[in-house]
Amino acid sequence: MTTAAPATAAALAEVRRAFPPERLVSGDPEKLEAYGRDESDLGVFPPDVAVLVESAEDVRTVFAIASRHRVPVVPVAARSGKSGGSLALRGGIAVSTERMNRILEVSPGDLVARVEPGVILAALQAEVERHGLFYPPDPNSLELCTLGGNVAENAGGPRALKYGVTREYVLGLTVVVPTGEILRLGHRSIKGVAGYDLTGLLVGSEGTLGIVTEVMVKLLPRPRHVATALVAFASVDAAARAVTRILTSGVIPRCLELMDDVALAAAAKTSPYRFPADAGAALILETDGNDEEQVFAELVRAAELVREDASGDVVVAQGEAQRRDVWETRRYLSVNLKTLHPLKLSEDVAVPRSRIPEMVAAAKAIGVRHGFTVATYGHAGDGNLHCNVLFDHPEERPRVDAAVGEILRAAVDLGGTITGEHGVGLAKRDFLEYEQGAEVVALERRIKAVFDPLGILNPGKIFPER
Ligand SMILES: Cc1cc2nc3c(=O)[nH]c(=O)nc-3n(C[C@H](O)[C@H](O)[C@H](O)COP(=O)(O)OP(=O)(O)OC[C@H]3O[C@@H](n4cnc5c(N)ncnc54)[C@H](O)[C@@H]3O)c2cc1C
Repeated sequence: MTTAAPATAAALAEVRRAFPPERLVSGDPEKLEAYGRDESDLGVFPPDVAVLVESAEDVRTVFAIASRHRVPVVPVAARSGKSGGSLALRGGIAVSTERMNRILEVSPGDLVARVEPGVILAALQAEVERHGLFYPPDPNSLELCTLGGNVAENAGGPRALKYGVTREYVLGLTVVVPTGEILRLGHRSIKGVAGYDLTGLLVGSEGTLGIVTEVMVKLLPRPRHVATALVAFASVDAAARAVTRILTSGVIPRCLELMDDVALAAAAKTSPYRFPADAGAALILETDGNDEEQVFAELVRAAELVREDASGDVVVAQGEAQRRDVWETRRYLSVNLKTLHPLKLSEDVAVPRSRIPEMVAAAKAIGVRHGFTVATYGHAGDGNLHCNVLFDHPEERPRVDAAVGEILRAAVDLGGTITGEHGVGLAKRDFLEYEQGAEVVALERRIKAVFDPLGILNPGKIFPER
C-alpha cells in the first residue's frame, strides 16, 4: 500500500472521525479498486477512501473536510459510466450514493416521483409502472445505472427519439455544492421559468458542479400498447433514406435503431431471424400509444414507407415474445461483436440525421486506414451512433485511440458532437475544444470555478488539462 500525502492522510483521519467504520471503505486496496473502475476501459483509479453517504448533510461534511485539506472529492454511483467520470484520477474521497436508494414518493396526482440518487433506474421504472405511469429515459444499462448517474450524464436511450433524454424529465434537484450550501433547485410544477435554469445546468454536469442528493422527475401515463418491427436493407444509405421517409411522414416512432453490416453480421450469430444474404444494414422500428389499432396502424404505415428501400420482408413482431426476440438481436450486439474481435472501443458520436451515411462511411474508412474493422449501430432516429473500433491485442490501443480521435473529429466536422449520451469525462476531454471552441470552454471553466472555487470536485474531468 502506498503512503498517502500528508494532506490526504489528515483528511482521512477526519473522515474516520466523522463517519462510522461500516460507512467507510478504506485500507483494503481490492475494495478501493472496485470504486476506481467503470465501463470506460480507461484503467483503474482508486480513491483513498469511499464514504457511503446517507444524506445531504453527509455530503456537506465530506466537502468541509476536503476543502480544509484541498483533497479531491469524486461522486460515484453504479460505475456503469463509459467516459471515466467516476474515476478518482487524483485519489481523494469517493462519495458513493449506494445507500441512498429509496424511492421517496410516486405521485399519480402530480405525475412526479421523488427519489434518492442511488435508486437503480429499472427499480424506478417498475415502481411507477405499478401505478400505471411511465418514466421514459431508457439507457441500455437500466438494470445497473442509477438516477444520480443518469442526471449527471443526462442519459438517453432508444426511446429518446420520441420522449427525449433525462433532462426533459428532471423538474427539481437537491444538490450539495463544494462550498457547502445545500441547494433546492427547480419546482414540483410542470412549468416554471423563475431565474436561471440551474436544474438544467446541473443535469449533464458530470459530477463536476455539485453532488445530487435528491431528484424530482416528471412522469407520463404509461402507453398501453407497443408494436415492434425489424427490417433489413442492402446498405446504410438505404436504411438512412428509410429513416428520413418515416420521420417526415408524421409518424414518430418511439425507437428507430440502426445496425450496419458488421453489426448485423455479429447480431446474426444469435438472432432468431435470418437476414437476407444481401443485407448491409437493419432497422428496429417501434411505435407506442394507448389505442392498440392505431399503434399497429402506425407501425404498418412506417413499414410501408420503408418497403421500397428494404431488402426482404418487414418482420412485424407478433406478441411480447417476438418483441423480446427483436430487442435481443440489438441487446446482444455488444457481446456478439467480441466474437469477431475480442476487444473493442465504443464511441457515441451524434450527427444530424441527414449525415448518418457519411458518418458510418467515415468511421469505416478511418478504421481501414488504421487497420481496424469498425462496427456502427445506434439510435438512428436521433443521429446518435455507436462506432465500435474492433481489435485483438491491448498493444494496439495507441492506434485505436488515434482512430477514435479521427472518428470524434469527423462527427464534429459533419455538424455533430463528440458525445450524444455518454459524456466527456476523462475519455474525451481533449476533444472538447475541437467541438466547442476555446472561448466557450473558457466560459465553462469560469462557471465551474463559481461552484467549486477550490477545484476539489471531480478534478481532471470534462476540461482538457492546461
Ligand atoms: C451496457 C451499457 C449500456 C449503456 N447504455 C447507455 C445508453 O443507452 N444511454 C446512455 O446514456 N448511457 C448508457 N450507458 C452509460 C451509463 O450507464 C450511463 O452514463 C449512466 O447514466 C451512468 O450511471 P451510473 O449510476 O453508473 O453512474 P457512474 O458511472 O457511477 O457515474 C457517472 C457520472 O455521474 C457522476 N455522478 C454519479 N452520481 C452522482 C450524483 N449523485 N451527483 C453528481 N454526480 C454524480 C459521477 O461522478 C460520474 O461523473 C451504458 C453503459 C453500459 C455499461
